[in-house]
Amino acid sequence: MIQLQNIEKVYRTSTVETLALSSISLDVAKGEFLSIMGPSGCGKSTLLNIMGLLDAPSKGQIKIGDQKTENLSDKQLANFRNQKLGFIFQSYHLINDLQVLDNVELPLLYRNSTAKERKALASEALAKVGLANRMKHFPNQLSGGQKQRVAIARAIVGRPEIILADEPTGNLDSAMGNEIMDILMQLNQNDGTTIVMVTHDENMAHKTHRLIRLFDGSQVQ
Ligand code: ADP
Ligand code: ADP
Repeated sequence: MIQLQNIEKVYRTSTVETLALSSISLDVAKGEFLSIMGPSGCGKSTLLNIMGLLDAPSKGQIKIGDQKTENLSDKQLANFRNQKLGFIFQSYHLINDLQVLDNVELPLLYRNSTAKERKALASEALAKVGLANRMKHFPNQLSGGQKQRVAIARAIVGRPEIILADEPTGNLDSAMGNEIMDILMQLNQNDGTTIVMVTHDENMAHKTHRLIRLFDGSQVQ
């Protein structure tokens, strides 16, 4: 589902060059739940951003499904991301002055759907994460675990084939973290969604199908 070939990423500024990833090759199968671990600064977020087509590699190829991505324009990339990928972040990235339902509808604004269709899909996504009763709340009226569930609803509302999650339980206590992990495992098992998750938590990582470890920009396991 995701194929990375010889990915290298160098961050260049006028004064420094950082080799963030070197020769990473990785295949994530359709329906797989993969976790990525490694110390701070080893390149985990960079790798996830490259898989999510949010950032381009300095070298190497990325294929998502049957689509080679290197020749796509920025607009094509944005469309492709919107259709295929859902993102979840450690700090939720919700818009605080929009109600929960409106936050969840956001990815659908880039598609040709009516307000009624958007509302129906967003309600369905919220029901799936157990938040049907919080549609009119604002994010700051929710607990951390509930905010992350809203973020998951927003990630799945467009029915993406792939979810990329960057430390989705990093800001949560272990009970809420487990709830989030249960939801991700259900999406993987019931809907066949391919999931790649960066985590610092060995317990979470061991619940997934496969764990890879990065050290200093290279895959070590
Ligand atoms: P991790 O997610 O494992 O903590 P990152 O992928 O964020 O690691 O960072 C990998 C390396 O790349 C680090 O050395 C970091 O300092 C560097 N880096 C990350 N983003 C940038 C950037 N935008 N500009 C320059 N260096 C960066
Ligand atoms: P938790 O114990 O999970 O951290 P909280 O104690 O933060 O949850 O919240 C308990 C419930 O009250 C939650 O379901 C949340 O939606 C609701 N809630 C919390 N703060 C507010 C608020 N300012 N306005 C409305 N509802 C709120």
